[in-house]
Amino acid sequence: MLITAEQRGSLESLIDLAARGRALRHEHDNPKEGPALQDLVTQHKEAEEQKREAAEVVETFRTQVAECQTLTEKQNVQIKKKTDELNDGTGLTSRDLVNLQNEIAGHEERVAEIEESELGSMEELEAAESALSEAESKLAEVTAAGRSTQTSIKERKAELATQIDENSAAAQTLKAELPDELVRQFENNISQGGPGAAILSGPNCQACGQEIGGATWKSMLLEDPNQTYECEECEAVLLRKG
Ligand SMILES: [Zn+2]
Repeated sequence: MLITAEQRGSLESLIDLAARGRALRHEHDNPKEGPALQDLVTQHKEAEEQKREAAEVVETFRTQVAECQTLTEKQNVQIKKKTDELNDGTGLTSRDLVNLQNEIAGHEERVAEIEESELGSMEELEAAESALSEAESKLAEVTAAGRSTQTSIKERKAELATQIDENSAAAQTLKAELPDELVRQFENNISQGGPGAAILSGPNCQACGQEIGGATWKSMLLEDPNQTYECEECEAVLLRKG
């Protein structure tokens, strides 16, 4: 189809706009920060798991400390009871008194042992609590980074959506300047995933790569440069380089 020089300019601009529109849509659907967000999601899962494990360790030592305290309490009850018996002394032989004293000493020894074990558990608890606090900080950090990346992607997508709309509007204006049939051919190629139209710089379709036969190419070279063609393979609008 023969078009005017002005229409040729419009078609060339439309080719550029369509390419820009494709790049915008590609970025919109494949955000640049997408892989970073995916990485943060993985890190978040790991951080959550580490926090859960650290909390379990803390719970184990807390239980140990509590158990020690219960045991000490029981021993102290015995010490109190036997000390009262000893102080009362009613009906006790000297042998009973010695036995009671030995029993009290035994309970006191046990208390000392439990307290030593409790001290060990308390030290481990302190270390476990500090590990838990680190795990919590890491999780908070990853969560914040994830939110900020999500926001950034959302903002960029909104920006791209605006640019896509502007691009479509500009393309619409250019299409209005071109013959209807040419526009139909252009849109048909776009709907098949093509660029719509392409400029020929040699005997190959710049849209799909299809070779143009030597005889055809030669006859095309003799025609008006504002003559448009349709690729036999992909049906894109083709225009010779000016
Ligand atoms: Zn083609």
